[in-house]
Amino acid sequence: MRTAWETFERETIDHLRALVRLDTTNPPGNERIAAHYLGAAFARESIECATIEPLPTRANLVARVAGTDRSRPPLMLSSHTDVVGVEAARWTRDPFGAELAEGCVWGRGSIDMKSKCAMDLGLALAIKRAGLLPARDLIIAAVADEEAGSELGARYLVEHHPDLIRAGFVLNETGGFTLHLGARRFYPIQVAEKGFVTVKMTVSGTPGHGSMPRADTAIAWIADLIGRITRTPMPRRVTPLMRRMLAGLGISPDQAPPLFRPMLANTVTPTIVRAGYKDNVIPGEAWVILDGRTLPGEDERGFLRELRDIVGPEPTLEVIKTAPPVEASPDTPLFDLIKTRTEAADPGARAIPWMLPGATDSKFYAQLGAICYGFAPVRLDPRMPFGALYHGNDERMPVEGFLWGLRLYTGVVLNFLGIRTEDVFA
Ligand SMILES: [Zn+2]
Repeated sequence: MRTAWETFERETIDHLRALVRLDTTNPPGNERIAAHYLGAAFARESIECATIEPLPTRANLVARVAGTDRSRPPLMLSSHTDVVGVEAARWTRDPFGAELAEGCVWGRGSIDMKSKCAMDLGLALAIKRAGLLPARDLIIAAVADEEAGSELGARYLVEHHPDLIRAGFVLNETGGFTLHLGARRFYPIQVAEKGFVTVKMTVSGTPGHGSMPRADTAIAWIADLIGRITRTPMPRRVTPLMRRMLAGLGISPDQAPPLFRPMLANTVTPTIVRAGYKDNVIPGEAWVILDGRTLPGEDERGFLRELRDIVGPEPTLEVIKTAPPVEASPDTPLFDLIKTRTEAADPGARAIPWMLPGATDSKFYAQLGAICYGFAPVRLDPRMPFGALYHGNDERMPVEGFLWGLRLYTGVVLNFLGIRTEDVFA
């Protein structure tokens, strides 16, 4: 049975709002409530799905619509169901109310990333309802724990259930939103993301009494090092992808605006600092957590060398966690399809390959050989502070831009699955 397009739009918005109302703040996560919601919806259309719960309440859900040709590598649509916390007092509206107001759905996760989760769900249901078989397997993954490192989510599935999620191609978050640069519009499509190297840097000094001031304390030293780190950029490197991306934007690497600078070097940011335990004691130790990010082509050792150049040989550096950068080629039929359809959906705009300075679950899926793109399209007007709303207060999704994105996303996914849009939607 075909679904009327308007019904599909309404249902997808309803799914988005229902998902936002489920408080899956991580920590503690409690993604089980989202997995239940999705599982029940899939079950109503008899779509096969598995729930993987590495720890009680931390559920991942993976559904599959079998295709006609199982020799072709599957397409996986992925989202994470956990969200970051809120400072509710600073919000204009209830962060878990999913209110529909001022043309937006308001709430934590409305952008990052229950919006794409709702799209993936709605689309799979519509395909199944139409009784159509995709040309390749379609996998829908809704995973836990992305906001806290993916240990119980994508990473767990890759390590313990690779057969459930092994795909040739993955469409995940962070890409396909309107980027306004002057009067021009771009749609960055994520093909690469940086790796991370989280380091604990410790220095020691002689402890003493607070009544006897000295310059050579652990606190003074760590403060000096933090100052040096924040003032000293790591060496600039323009990767081939960035060269291509900047050329697409008509920007020379020397003139890259601040937005692009993290994509042109490894970076390091102090994020947690600790020293002392009593108001009149000079502590013998101080430490800082450094959030290091590595460019594609770089590794942990190279990063630590660059960090040593800044902080010198003395501080102790302990790597706490690390994950490699990842990059997929934009020279694939799927990328071409995304680019062509996106540019057709917003005439005059250009879709360009993009590097995310942060990390997503694509990092883990790529370990199984998948080509991963960030494509969760939304059309935005220039006044929408989209970037600031990720993990920010008053996170909200503009309905009109979301529905524009839904149409574009649907067209791309169905085409790649060898299904005609008019066979699914009336
Ligand atoms: Zn996210």
